[in-house]
Amino acid sequence: MDPLTHTSAIDLQFDSKKSIIIIGQEILASLPSLIPYSKWDAIVAVVSDTVYELHKTAIDHGLNLINAILLPYNDSEQNKSYAYAEQYFNQLLEHHCTRSSLVMGIGGGVTTDFAGYIASAYMRGIDVVYVPTTLLAMVDASIGGKVAVNIKSGKNIVGHFHQPDYIMIDINFLQTLPESEWRCGMSEVVKHAVIGDSSSYKLLQNKAIRYGQINTALYECIDSSVRFKASVVEKDEYEKNIRAILNYGHTVGHAIESLFEYTLSHGDAVAAGMLVESYISMKEGMSKDDFDCIKDLLWEYNLVPKITFDPHLILNHMMYDKKNIKGKIRFVLLESIGKPLIGQEVTDALVMEALQFYLTMVNT
Ligand code: NAD
Repeated sequence: MDPLTHTSAIDLQFDSKKSIIIIGQEILASLPSLIPYSKWDAIVAVVSDTVYELHKTAIDHGLNLINAILLPYNDSEQNKSYAYAEQYFNQLLEHHCTRSSLVMGIGGGVTTDFAGYIASAYMRGIDVVYVPTTLLAMVDASIGGKVAVNIKSGKNIVGHFHQPDYIMIDINFLQTLPESEWRCGMSEVVKHAVIGDSSSYKLLQNKAIRYGQINTALYECIDSSVRFKASVVEKDEYEKNIRAILNYGHTVGHAIESLFEYTLSHGDAVAAGMLVESYISMKEGMSKDDFDCIKDLLWEYNLVPKITFDPHLILNHMMYDKKNIKGKIRFVLLESIGKPLIGQEVTDALVMEALQFYLTMVNT
């Protein structure tokens, strides 16, 4: 792939503001022509330490071009915290950031969530630009305006809806992404494909996407996945209705994550959740052919974790999901591939059967 011959731009109009997503290669080197950097009186970039170490030359060059100040960030869930954020508010003040300044976040979803939270809260909210560097952050975390930090009693408890001004997706960052992180992102790519992103679905079915191959198929898949998520969140900025389809696989996925005390990756948990919820969908009317296609896709991309658990405990954890309404567990089910149904109630017996199916399938 020649650099920048494949750049695309997606304009999003939210109630709160306009956002622009740019997808391509070697994006940082073109920053001055892609963002109106002189309109901000200061630019502060919160940069993942890991990503900086791996991409130092490109990041230094890009940030120099727009006179940005680099604030290193030791990215981890532990440091995506309310307490840690205070240190960055102080640093923004030390660098004389005002309401007309910009925060950039360069890194995975932890970094973009953290930088986004800082931008959303500093002086009641300033502009933010993301440069997501994991597949998950590219197709999911950086899009939609949800920003949050963790507190002792829970993940993503404190946050806002705060749309970024720009999301600059440079697929070259994926060259250094470990396979386990790649699989986390692939879970969300498959999720989008199954609930409505038909272009990615075709690419995945054709086995066109492979870990470590930065090629046109990957670019097209990311482009399509990003457009899909963007189109959903644009219709429902504050998650009042349609945006809930993005929670497919997450009712069970969150319960698994929580039962495993977050030692299992979010991607693994969501992949397991998708398989269980697809089984429930089949029992509620989706065709077996569609179920087999979803199962094969999850299997093909090696996304299904071989885990064991007590199904009763998963059910208990689902009861406490923060997205429950009036104590009722709701699922996103599929009528067929590409046709999600939100707010579906399911009997405990069927949930138990689906969990049992999962356990038998992955452990035999
Ligand atoms: P992450 O940010 O922790 O990144 C995973 C690991 O990969 C980290 O060690 C990171 O340093 C490293 N890394 C990042 N880019 C790299 C690269 N190009 N090469 C090599 N290593 C690289 O994890 P993530 O999966 O990107 O994001 C997970 C976070 O996103 C969670 O905190 C989750 O809550 C959040 N999230 C937010 C939303 C949202 O809507 N805001 C949606 C989904 C997830």
